[in-house]
Amino acid sequence: MRMPIETSLDPAACGDDRSRPPLADTLDAATGVDLHMHSRASDGALTPTELVDLCHARGIRHMALSDHDTLDGVAEAQARAATLGLGLMPAAELSCQWRGQGVHIVALLPAGASDGFQAGLDVLTNAREARSREIAHRLEKIGLDDGLARARHEAGSERPLGRPDFAAALVTAGLVPDRAAAFKRYLGAGKRGDVKMHWPTLETVVGWIRESGGVAVIAHPLRYGMTRRKRDLLIEAFIAAGGEAAELVSGYQNPGSTFDLARQLHHHGLYGSLGSDFHYPGGALAPGTVSPAPRSHVVPVWRHPALAEFAAGASSPSVTL
Ligand code: AMP
Ligand code: MN
Ligand code: MN
Ligand code: MN
Repeated sequence: MRMPIETSLDPAACGDDRSRPPLADTLDAATGVDLHMHSRASDGALTPTELVDLCHARGIRHMALSDHDTLDGVAEAQARAATLGLGLMPAAELSCQWRGQGVHIVALLPAGASDGFQAGLDVLTNAREARSREIAHRLEKIGLDDGLARARHEAGSERPLGRPDFAAALVTAGLVPDRAAAFKRYLGAGKRGDVKMHWPTLETVVGWIRESGGVAVIAHPLRYGMTRRKRDLLIEAFIAAGGEAAELVSGYQNPGSTFDLARQLHHHGLYGSLGSDFHYPGGALAPGTVSPAPRSHVVPVWRHPALAEFAAGASSPSVTL
């Protein structure tokens, strides 16, 4: 599927911009912004339209829909955002590996996706399929028969499967009490169902983002269980590949860790992003829920020249299918 990008600056086509104030100059002063959320196009519970409505109701005026390895929800989200006067950044959270570890990179795509990026998404879809088969195979050994069909049933749609679908299948099969236990025992980092070898490298996915004129953002840098030193090495490899930003705050974070991360991002000259990583209503997180960012010298990612129009409250590009 190809999605040509059409940049529309016609205010009439883009709803009421008066409700969209420009974004703050510093991360600690930012309000009404969330640059990492999921919809049903990947492992989120809401349709893109429902997600945009919820964001609007919660006072978010600048958002990014960042589904795992797909842009499939973006066109619907943009159509809804335009009617409500929200700025919506086309985005995706790309799966990759670095030194044998799974890492997520948010692609912020103010100019949409290049052909190379689109081809990259096809690579990721194929990787996800091969990986699902491998996860199902590995889970057979702990007593989950027909795991692929069970995970597909839990997903409830034809979208590519992810570990949360296998977690749900393990719960339904009575092999674990809840999804948290499924990740803790079988699917979390380093466990038997954590299959990374199909993912492209960090350098490859950052290349797709750069080629699209987008900004690559390391997602939730504190959630990889890395030491600070290892995170330095990740950041260095990321920058060498053309990466420019990292999430300073992802959902709830320990204030001390966030403060230290701010120092690390500033040291490396990375822009800072903010996002809830929202997946479903009723949990601890809602759109816009992020721990406070400390005062720091980290420059907000929306001050990146490529995001200037988005930050100023101008109409966002619309993706047409
Ligand atoms: P995948 O993209 O298939 O590797 O699945 C990763 C997704 O699984 C994440 O984006 C979260 O939605 C979910 N996930 C990861 N770790 C956990 C965990 N410990 N508990 C619950 N969900 C998790
Ligand atoms: Mn997810
Ligand atoms: Mn992630
Ligand atoms: Mn995410």
